[in-house]
Amino acid sequence: FTADKDKGSVAKIKVVVRKRPLNKKEGSRKEEDIITIQPNSNSLVVHETKLKVDLTEYVEKHEFVFDAVLDDDVSNDEVYRETVEPIVPTIFQRTKATCFAYGQTGSGKTYTMQPLPLRASHDILRLMHHTYRNQGFQLFFSFFEIYGGKLFDLLNDRRKLCMREDGKQQVCIVGLQEYKVSNVETIRDFIEKGNATRSTGTTGANEESSRSHAILQLAIKRSVDGSESKPARVVGKLSFIDLAGSERGADTTDNDKQTRIEGAEINKSLLALKECIRALDNDQVHIPFRGSKLTEVLRDSFIGDSRTVMISCISPNSGSCEHTLNTLRYADRVK
Ligand code: ADP
Ligand code: MG
Repeated sequence: FTADKDKGSVAKIKVVVRKRPLNKKEGSRKEEDIITIQPNSNSLVVHETKLKVDLTEYVEKHEFVFDAVLDDDVSNDEVYRETVEPIVPTIFQRTKATCFAYGQTGSGKTYTMQPLPLRASHDILRLMHHTYRNQGFQLFFSFFEIYGGKLFDLLNDRRKLCMREDGKQQVCIVGLQEYKVSNVETIRDFIEKGNATRSTGTTGANEESSRSHAILQLAIKRSVDGSESKPARVVGKLSFIDLAGSERGADTTDNDKQTRIEGAEINKSLLALKECIRALDNDQVHIPFRGSKLTEVLRDSFIGDSRTVMISCISPNSGSCEHTLNTLRYADRVK
């Protein structure tokens, strides 16, 4: 392909922070917004209220710098332009690209992630129908989740899946339904179906989804000679990952055993993810993807030519200060 030169200008790893607005409930509790972002800057300040030994309060300021910092008035369209739009063309050039949303439950991960795959599909299909017209590219859609270290198909009644490596460092998820898609309406239906399946777990909506990683994948395939009749191979892939609530990784001391097991798995996967992204950034040969189910599943997205966008979502309220600092420190280590 001729557009390879454009790909070089797209950063291998991009770390973006998005702050959500203070909500009514927080406002009515008189909680303060403790995050300040200067207009058009890529840094933010967290104002943490602490107590001295004599119990008087003082404020400690923590400043962080990232590739981009998006304030609470930034629209989902702008988020798309800042994060996913630049990496879409690279997947036609054999790149595996991944976009993560990280943050505590209620910080806006799902709000941020939900519209992105649809926007991306729109752009992918446009490229397929115009720039790469008649070159035999096909688009495939799949959507699954990792819950308690196990894989479930979100487009096939939460059917349990297992993972296999094919010896060529390709990950194969046995039984995962992959659908060939050619228009955005179908994709919209699949996204809605998957999201509904995700949140109607046994214990109620947000509770359940905060303990699982949801993985939506758009794969570009093409048969060797470009003809539609021959079996198609993956050219590139774009994965969207709505991660489990980062605070869930601390559930390792909970009274409930199942919760503890899930908490340990989440903790392990978020740590492994950080290590894998750091290894990518250092062009390390050895990527420690075996550390968790999440990173194993994403194995082929960590090797070869990859692009990673991490969107760290933060809540503005004073009550979330500790989680917010944890999220920003995590993002800081990845960058
Ligand atoms: P998470 O997936 O991280 O648990 P959600 O995406 O469900 O969080 O967001 C929690 C609530 O905050 C939802 O009601 C959502 O609509 C709202 N919200 C999140 N981010 C924003 C935003 N940037 N602007 C407006 N509302 C938001
Ligand atoms: Mg969510």
